[in-house]
Amino acid sequence: MEAARHGAVGALLVHTSESASYPWQVVVSSNRGEAFALPPEGEPRLAFQGWIAREAVGRLFQMAGRDFAAEEAVAKDTRAKGAKGLPLGVTASLDMKVKRERIASANVIGILPGTDPGLKSEAVLYTAHHDHFGQRVPPVAGERNVYTGALDNASGCAVVLTIARAAAASPPRRSVIVAFVTAEEQGLLGSRHFARHPPLPTGRIAVDINLDGINNKGRTSDLGVIGLGKSSVDDVIRSLAAAQGRSVHGDPFPDRGAFYRSDSFELAQVGVPGARIGGGPHFIGRPEGWGKEQQEHYERHDYHQPSDAYPPSPEAWDLSGAVEDAQLQLLLGLRIGNAPKMPVWTKGDEFEKFRLAAAGDPGPVPRRPFPAAVVEPESAPVDGEVPEKVIDTVRADLGKRTGAKPGAMRVVRAEAVMFGDGSLGCGRPGQSYTQAIVPGYRVVLALEGREYDYRVASRGSLILCDLGPQSK
Ligand SMILES: [Zn+2]
Repeated sequence: MEAARHGAVGALLVHTSESASYPWQVVVSSNRGEAFALPPEGEPRLAFQGWIAREAVGRLFQMAGRDFAAEEAVAKDTRAKGAKGLPLGVTASLDMKVKRERIASANVIGILPGTDPGLKSEAVLYTAHHDHFGQRVPPVAGERNVYTGALDNASGCAVVLTIARAAAASPPRRSVIVAFVTAEEQGLLGSRHFARHPPLPTGRIAVDINLDGINNKGRTSDLGVIGLGKSSVDDVIRSLAAAQGRSVHGDPFPDRGAFYRSDSFELAQVGVPGARIGGGPHFIGRPEGWGKEQQEHYERHDYHQPSDAYPPSPEAWDLSGAVEDAQLQLLLGLRIGNAPKMPVWTKGDEFEKFRLAAAGDPGPVPRRPFPAAVVEPESAPVDGEVPEKVIDTVRADLGKRTGAKPGAMRVVRAEAVMFGDGSLGCGRPGQSYTQAIVPGYRVVLALEGREYDYRVASRGSLILCDLGPQSK
């Protein structure tokens, strides 16, 4: 995308095992099947893109009478900022049959309204990707051929669901959004779509707490934070980890560039600071180096393989460490959700400018309709919280429609609610609505054996929600 913005027609990414953290073989096996992309929205696109092995690019430069190693050294020299485009004078022609089809997938999103009348228009976001790789093509006889993705990332989804349930028991002042995003394995596509079409302006999203593959190997004495140092979210993580008696450090495998490969990267590019934590690699009661060994074993044998499956005997997964991580992630969301101010990027961080832009001008609220499930806490206030003026307005409207006297109407239901979009929970087929959390009221009046379901935005607009026959 960056290359296209600079005017490139196509791009070949030079692969080395060190920079990618996996061998060329993984590039080959991961790119054998279909490739996915989001539908274009007017942004610059490359006509082609691909990977090229380091050895192959060396030969390509030789054909042009140039030394790739020398050019690479110049490009890598950040002080010189010397990377300049140069004509190779080599051409290639490529003939490839491409079959294109349009498929639909979904980000699954839930919103738990916050308890503070002002702050509930802001939110804490939890993300976990729900996709993996489908079926192995061609199948291998006698072997497991479905990519179940038990650890990557059914486990993260399960924890986010559990956190959502726990948060519903005691919602914070800010709203909580949980998003199970799709197509992460295809290049963070679901979270990119979410970032471009957020359910509320990204300048109002306090943090993205991202989960991808839990710790299934037991309790740890330490905690790794991907992207440590990037924002004030670190302070909250540190204090929660200290309460658990755990030390905090940065990414234990910094060479993998995990932050830039996670869904948090897409949110960071619209200014939302991320929080991706994971226990380890120091496991309590295990020798030094054991955690790293386990991690490497997973990467070699099960990562992105059909063997990433739930074990036949459940004891094979020790979830005691995952529970501690999940407790920390829950409290992290609640604490940020209750704090007077949202977290800030570290001064001068590469993503700070996006936040400043988003806060200064949240931009138009996206219009693309997307079904947002509004989860209301069981303790949702019923009665009492709806101002008398609102009920009077609703009575007056029904009086105008029916000619009935206000005294003949009975209030069946009156509650303060958060609507998930501009339809106030009363969407009509074929219409699109702004995606936003709209605070308002639902008032149901009974009159002569019929019920009239009113939705009122706290800013004033009023809808008589006529979803077919209302009599009960
Ligand atoms: Zn994953």
